[in-house]
Amino acid sequence: MDELDRLRQKISQLEAELGELRRKNAELQERSKNSAGQEDLPISLSEIEETLRRLVQRTAMIVQAEKCVIMVRDRETGDLFARQPAFGLTEEEIASYRVPIHCGITGEVYRSGNPAILPNTEKDKRAVEERLPDLRIRNGVTVPLIVEKRDDESRVTDRLTIGVLHCFNKRYGGEFIEEDVRLLERLSRSAAAVIANAQMFQEVVEEKEKLVHTLESLTAGLLLINQHGNIGQMNAQARVMFEVPAGTDPIGKPFADIIKHTECLEIINRKIVEANRPADAAEEEESDEPPKPDEVTIADSEGEEYIYQVHAAEVHDDSNKSIGTVIIFNDITDIRNVERMKTEFVSIVSHELRTPLTPMKGFVRTLLDDPNEEMFTVEDRQEFYGIIDSNVDRLSRLINDLLNVSRIEKRGAAGIEMNWEEVDIRKAAEEVVGIQRGMTDRHTLVIDFEPEQITAVTDPDKIQNILQNLVSNAIKYSQGGEVRIIGRMEPETETVLLGVRDQGMGIPEAAQKKLFTKFYRVDNRNVRKVGGTGIGLFLVKNLVEAHKGHIWVESELGKGTTFWFRIPMKQSRSEEAETAA
Ligand code: ADP
Repeated sequence: MDELDRLRQKISQLEAELGELRRKNAELQERSKNSAGQEDLPISLSEIEETLRRLVQRTAMIVQAEKCVIMVRDRETGDLFARQPAFGLTEEEIASYRVPIHCGITGEVYRSGNPAILPNTEKDKRAVEERLPDLRIRNGVTVPLIVEKRDDESRVTDRLTIGVLHCFNKRYGGEFIEEDVRLLERLSRSAAAVIANAQMFQEVVEEKEKLVHTLESLTAGLLLINQHGNIGQMNAQARVMFEVPAGTDPIGKPFADIIKHTECLEIINRKIVEANRPADAAEEEESDEPPKPDEVTIADSEGEEYIYQVHAAEVHDDSNKSIGTVIIFNDITDIRNVERMKTEFVSIVSHELRTPLTPMKGFVRTLLDDPNEEMFTVEDRQEFYGIIDSNVDRLSRLINDLLNVSRIEKRGAAGIEMNWEEVDIRKAAEEVVGIQRGMTDRHTLVIDFEPEQITAVTDPDKIQNILQNLVSNAIKYSQGGEVRIIGRMEPETETVLLGVRDQGMGIPEAAQKKLFTKFYRVDNRNVRKVGGTGIGLFLVKNLVEAHKGHIWVESELGKGTTFWFRIPMKQSRSEEAETAA
């Protein structure tokens, strides 16, 4: 009798514990319905797990079993699997205990919803099917875990089996009896509700994690601000944008404490008001012109500026209650840069086209005004023709460059047609020096080749074009001094190293990595004074790459610059054959 009393007491204690957990669960569900989901959850998954651990342990004690384990459905495979925590089974045993739904005693109890006793596993087909004797299980009792849904008057409206509860190996050599089934059925009702909630909880946590990972990997900055003006969500990109220190958790803090950028704060404040304005008020204010999206420029820790377009929207829950405002920052720096460069480019190109046209027009006019060739000597006229001629060359170079840019844009360096030949590179350098010498009397042009004669398989026009661009830049961007064309043969690697060195203004380090970008020009007064389109180095880089070569720059501000490039001495046969074809 004493023993029975003790058992009853234990059961009531366990039921009380389960009841408390159910109450907390209900509270949790209610709170998650009413909040933006950002407050701390009232109970944690570990709390539920701890209760379940006590449940299996005490259940085992109550029915005097050596082992107790809960099996639930795997959402993906549909199998029933042993769920942690369990009592009297090792981690490996739990991990490997998995039963298809149509199989074994587990499958049968799950499908039928009726309990079963296994007096002897070795003699029972259903037990052998799920390999219970291998787990050193002699006998057992299994009950279904059924969740009952009730209406307001406590009438059961729906029953759903979510798994089964096993107790194995009756202690002291005994056998499981109907009384054990009754005890277990009583416990299993509360247990099922807790497990169902734990599963739901787990799913919510997993869904939330998935969502957080998705938000974190967005390339746009994302900020969720709740109704109280606190940060509900701030993804990695937004944390980088607003330079949130690594150890600081911005969640739950007022957004004005975290975001220091004044212009951004203004925009966010305005966006919150706009997003929360009732729809009819917004409609009333709507003008014919669509609203201009907000743009803000934010500098990173290295001072590099990025342009962001800001969008905002009000976030509602299922019952259409506002839970905050989501604000997205889209990085549109590249788009804006290209737009700006395009505008600049058009004005630069117009200027560059006009520059040679002005002297051409002037000298042609002068020559036309002297039909009888009385005003100018033959030498004068020759000089005028020479000036016109070199300006025509300048124009046609510019037009060729523009055509090449559009070819490269379409097909990359591969878009450049190459006519491979064995080329005397020194001779090419000498021709460039010959042309460029006429452009300056303040520079000394030097050819420094070792050995003196260097040949390589290249396209003669293209190699000359590369050198021409680099030497002309070296002259343009230095007041005077030496411009040296360096050539070195590198027999070990079968390559040729070429360089153009000047003693000019140099290039700031930050600008060096952008030099070879289309339309890029260093932004300073000295550079602006010198005419240019910003396409020379872009073309040079692509021409070097069409040789399967590589180009780089070494430069020191105020001291000078060297552009180096390395190309193979020979091109592979297939390349040559391709261009021949
Ligand atoms: P452009 O000379 O027509 O502007 P490039 O593409 O040839 O265009 O050069 C891009 C930019 O690189 C130039 O505007 C200039 O700022 C910089 N640059 C090129 N070569 C030199 C050099 N040798 N020294 C200093 N700056 C240079």
